[in-house]
Amino acid sequence: MRLIFLGPPGAGKGTQAQRIESFLNIKQLSTGDMLRAAVAAKTPVGLVAQDIMARGDLVPDEVVVGIIADRIDEADCANGFILDGFPRNVAQAEALNVMLDEKGLTLDGVIELKVNSEILIGRILKRAEESAGGPREDDTQEALTHRLRVYEEQTAPVSAYYAGKGVLKEVDGMQEIDQVTEAIKATLGVN
Ligand code: AMP
Repeated sequence: MRLIFLGPPGAGKGTQAQRIESFLNIKQLSTGDMLRAAVAAKTPVGLVAQDIMARGDLVPDEVVVGIIADRIDEADCANGFILDGFPRNVAQAEALNVMLDEKGLTLDGVIELKVNSEILIGRILKRAEESAGGPREDDTQEALTHRLRVYEEQTAPVSAYYAGKGVLKEVDGMQEIDQVTEAIKATLGVN
C-alpha cells in the first residue's frame, strides 16, 4: 500500500505512521527525519537544509523531491510506503504525481489527521521536553509559530488538492493515540 499522511506539525503523523508501518509492513518515509540525518552527517543536502530547517521554512522542492524519488526505489519500499511530511506544498504534490506515473505506481490513499490548531503548540513543546535526544532545533516557540504559518499557507492547500482528486480521507487526530490508529485502519479498510 502507498499512502500519504497529512497534518500540521504536532498532529501525530510520525507516531501514527510508525504504527501503520509495522502493521502493514510498509516503510515510513519521513522527509523531516531524512533531512535531520543529512544535517547531522553534514552532507551537501544537510548543509543546504540546516538553516532553513532551524527557522521553520521549507527546504527547496527539488531537494526533497529528489530524496523521495531515490528513496522509493529502494528494496524496502517494494511492499509500499507512507509519506510522512511530504508533499508539503502543491508543487511537491504535482511532482510526486509525475514521479509515481513514471515509475508505474499509484497511491492507495491520503490520510489527513485533523487537529485543533490551539492544542498543537502545547503538544510540540511537550514533545520537545520529553525528547530523549534533546529538543529539536525547530521546536522553539518562535520556529514553531513560523512552522504553523508555513503549514497554513503552503501545506494546507495540499489537502484541497487531494480532496479535488477524490482521494483524501480525514481522521480525527484529537482522540487517544490507539483510537487514532484504529480510525486510520478502518479508513483504509485494513482492520
Ligand atoms: P518535520 O519533521 O516533518 O516537521 O520537518 C522538519 C523540517 O524539515 C520542516 O520544517 C522543513 O524545514 C523540512 N522539511 C521536511 N519535509 C519537507 C518537505 N517535504 N519539503 C520541504 N521541507 C521539508
